[in-house]
Amino acid sequence: MKHLAAVNKYFWKYRTRLGLGVLFIILSNYFRILAPQVSGYVVDKVTQAIKIQNGLAFAKHPARNANYDVLVKQLIVWVEDGNITFGNMIILSGLTLLVLALLGGFFMFLMRQTIIVMSRHIEFDQKNEVYQHYQQLDAGFYKTHSTGDLMNRISEDISKVRMYTGPAVMYVINLSATIGFSVYFMLKENVELTLYVLAPLPILTITIYSVNTIINKKSERIQALLSGLTTTAQESYSGIRVIKSFVQEKAMMGFFNDNSNLYKKNAISLAKVEAIYFPSMALLIGVSTLLTIAVGGWYHVSGHSPAVSAGTIAEFVIYVNLLTFPVMALGWTASMIQRGAASQKRLNEFLDTRSAIVDNPNPVHLNSLKGDIVFKDVSFTYAHTGIKAISHFNLTIKEGQKVLIIGKTGSGKSTLAQLLLHFYNPDNGSVSIGENDIKNISLSQLRNGISYVPQDVFLFSDTVSNNIGFGLATMPSQETIEQAASFASIHKEILSFEKGYNTMIGERGVTLSGGQKQRISIARSLIKNPEIVVFDDCLSAVDAKTESEIINNFYLYLQQKTAVIITHRIFSTFRFDNIVVIEGGTIIEEGTHNELMDKEGYYAELYRLQLTRDDAEPVESIFVA
Ligand code: ADP
Ligand code: MG
Repeated sequence: MKHLAAVNKYFWKYRTRLGLGVLFIILSNYFRILAPQVSGYVVDKVTQAIKIQNGLAFAKHPARNANYDVLVKQLIVWVEDGNITFGNMIILSGLTLLVLALLGGFFMFLMRQTIIVMSRHIEFDQKNEVYQHYQQLDAGFYKTHSTGDLMNRISEDISKVRMYTGPAVMYVINLSATIGFSVYFMLKENVELTLYVLAPLPILTITIYSVNTIINKKSERIQALLSGLTTTAQESYSGIRVIKSFVQEKAMMGFFNDNSNLYKKNAISLAKVEAIYFPSMALLIGVSTLLTIAVGGWYHVSGHSPAVSAGTIAEFVIYVNLLTFPVMALGWTASMIQRGAASQKRLNEFLDTRSAIVDNPNPVHLNSLKGDIVFKDVSFTYAHTGIKAISHFNLTIKEGQKVLIIGKTGSGKSTLAQLLLHFYNPDNGSVSIGENDIKNISLSQLRNGISYVPQDVFLFSDTVSNNIGFGLATMPSQETIEQAASFASIHKEILSFEKGYNTMIGERGVTLSGGQKQRISIARSLIKNPEIVVFDDCLSAVDAKTESEIINNFYLYLQQKTAVIITHRIFSTFRFDNIVVIEGGTIIEEGTHNELMDKEGYYAELYRLQLTRDDAEPVESIFVA
């Protein structure tokens, strides 16, 4: 329960709604609770009339001195002194019941309108709170949490908490009001009878609560099985070519069948529990009603004190029926609160996670991200795996230089790029731009000033235009977008799509090749017009010819910019100011192309190896020392 205290701030925020909701619940219950009294009165009048007819009674008003509510008493005074006929009195009482039901219903409508609507507002706020928190968390957090888990928090967990802030809160207040009113009037009327009538209700609540726990457990299991089933189906659809080429259709079918069977078994067993559940509830409620009539009838017939009239019995039967729904709701309200608390606990854990990368509260004020980039004795270990990716790394990249970082897979190239973007804090040493440690530069300035194309490119399920214009505050003109696309050598291909720049990318649109995705990502980074560009192996899926086309465009585009190009293969057509070969997170060779060729080291070897492969390219002629 203590976990749910976290949502109290929202109750406070929506206190007016909540307050109104409580008021409506009380009013709704008040009007509904008057109905049994009016009915009791009518039953008494009818029995009295019968007695008079049979000569068993004489007086006109021996009407029982019942402890009715003031409103009902007023009605009785009005009816009895108004000199109306017996028939009209019955009709009038009937109409009163109708009006009471309408009033009760009307306020119930208002109560849902306030409390359930409030819970939707809270849900909305909570979703935004969680989403905002996701955006603040660092890359390290995302490495250790699965997407599925994160999705669950923002959808499942929040909707379970909503069941608490909405229905559960409403039922609890409603239950308190109903019990409060009816028990008050019942006790006023007849204490003994009240105790008899209420006796089965706790048993009812406990039964409902325990059966409900079983039902919840079962349905959660079913939910899990269903999501497993969906995943299996989904994977089979996406992997259908692999399945077919490995002739695994039968095996997959068998696997799916097993899953499906398990799901069916569980669903049937849940249906069984539910089938027993509802009739048992009806039985228990029936027992309460029966007790009211039996005990009340015995009091009535035996003349045992306190005297019980037929009207009282009728009144109590209706009270019992009024109580059943809220009491039944108590069982599932309790489990709703329990589940809400469990979900809120998970949300709290997540919301309490602090990002390892926090924006400096007093960042340096810079007009632009100019100056040399300096890595000074940087070491970095991935905390959750203990892999030391960068070790005593020293490198100065002068403003405006074009630097190539080359190395085998796993040598630490991508890690370097991410350290420069302040996705991680180095364990040791510092990264600075223009003599400012990047820790003192605001994250937004740093990341706006650097165009970074990550190795694993990502495009949104949106149009090509929107994907290219993604990072900009205002949507750029079509011309700007097309220019960026031309620089990235993708313009012509985009035009060849049926809807051109308005083509949807992703599941509901065209499927792009790896190279096309990379080039759209490049266009997206170029349009930002930053001071520094970092391209992490983003031409790996592009063919050699297009690659040299793009690299040539870079001459034009990158003139004034500092560029860090990461690759595992040599770009033979571009003259880099500095080439850095890294291995195991440290520099093993550094220099210009010619210097490195003279060294006859790793670079020279790689260069020769590649030359024999790309024999079509007239490489040598391009290198002018
Ligand atoms: P490269 O880009 O040169 O292929 P990386 O910088 O991606 O190299 O990786 C350097 C080392 O760090 C590798 O040993 C790799 O396994 C490890 N590594 C990379 N990313 C992570 C990560 N998110 N968590 C843990 N280890 C990582
Ligand atoms: Mg990499």
